[in-house]
Amino acid sequence: MIQWYVPLLPLLLPHANAHTPYGTRAQGHDALVFSCNHHFPRRRFFDTVLPKFETLVRSFPVPIPSTIALIVDDYHHKLISQVCPVCLYRTLKREQETLAKGLDKKVVQLQSWEL
Ligand SMILES: [Zn+2]
Repeated sequence: MIQWYVPLLPLLLPHANAHTPYGTRAQGHDALVFSCNHHFPRRRFFDTVLPKFETLVRSFPVPIPSTIALIVDDYHHKLISQVCPVCLYRTLKREQETLAKGLDKKVVQLQSWEL
């Protein structure tokens, strides 16, 4: 389920900084662009999107704390090997609902995350 993070923004912005291939400065703003086509200003990503992801995945009925720690750590690397947190959450949510159902855990509908 891992998809590669594709550095699209440097291709779209000819003045992009070649030394920051996975997010680039454009008119004073950093951005993270993912292969799923979602993109976030760097500040919004780390101040809002990633904390929301962590909050949502920590409420899963089948806890996966080590996996979450690895995923969150990966989002702090220069080379991110995952889709964006929103798309990843949607995939994990479906898996959690299936897992919880198989384990006979009572599952209320997990929260959706729309952009
Ligand atoms: Zn996405």
